[in-house]
Amino acid sequence: MARRKKIYEGKAKILYEGPEPGTVVQYFKDDATAFNAQKRDVIEGKGVLNNRLSEFFMTGLNQIGVPTHFIRRLNMREQLVRACEIIPLEIIVRNYAAGSLATRLGLEEGMQLPRPIVEYCYKDDKLGDPLVSEEHIAAFGWASQQDMDDIVSLALRVNDFLSGVMLAVGIRLVDFKIEVGRVYDGDFMRLIVADEISPDSCRLWDIESGQKLDKDVFRRDLGSLTDAYSEVARRLGVLPNAAPVAKPRLIN
Ligand code: UDP
Repeated sequence: MARRKKIYEGKAKILYEGPEPGTVVQYFKDDATAFNAQKRDVIEGKGVLNNRLSEFFMTGLNQIGVPTHFIRRLNMREQLVRACEIIPLEIIVRNYAAGSLATRLGLEEGMQLPRPIVEYCYKDDKLGDPLVSEEHIAAFGWASQQDMDDIVSLALRVNDFLSGVMLAVGIRLVDFKIEVGRVYDGDFMRLIVADEISPDSCRLWDIESGQKLDKDVFRRDLGSLTDAYSEVARRLGVLPNAAPVAKPRLIN
């Protein structure tokens, strides 16, 4: 079998050269890391679940006209995506206080924010992905003002879509992270949602019980991570043998 060229290996995924120019194969590993990789483990089945869940979210976004890198799923662990130049920022959208925001500002976990808050971290593992402002982003040339306007608009559209999809299956979207990349159509550059959208990069709480269904289960040793991710997949009807999707419900 011809060996594929590895382009990049990260903590949870490997990127290989794709079959056509401008494409990349994204392979989802079972490795889980937290606290800037100080805590790590291999969680059998996580990669398969995240491949399916990211496919589900990215396909939905493409369908509503939010451009993403996703082209098609290839197999249990791999998907074909568009090659793009990743902007070195983690774009975080928050609806409820949790994690580093709750710590930084002394907020109670779970407090609803007055409006969605968009934050940026500079992607650099050695520095622990520090929080940065638009001033830093502009001054160091990581993105232009036009890029930032597009990034905020993409992030908020992703937030509305994901919040609605999750609410329909009884899950609260507390916060999430996306990455954005540049693609070129001739001279024309545009931004697309890249990387992955999965319970590794979102905080998802069951609306009724508050149970965590995301990577905090691993970060805080709250039980089986694959059980939590399977529950999300099952409710969304994503797993092949999934039970029927939970009835949509409206919240007061
Ligand atoms: N997040 C992520 N990758 C990171 C940092 C954060 O996917 O490297 C996600 C995280 O899962 C959460 C959101 O971004 O859904 C906000 O994370 P926060 O800043 O609270 O950081 P944490 O508490 O995870 O350190």
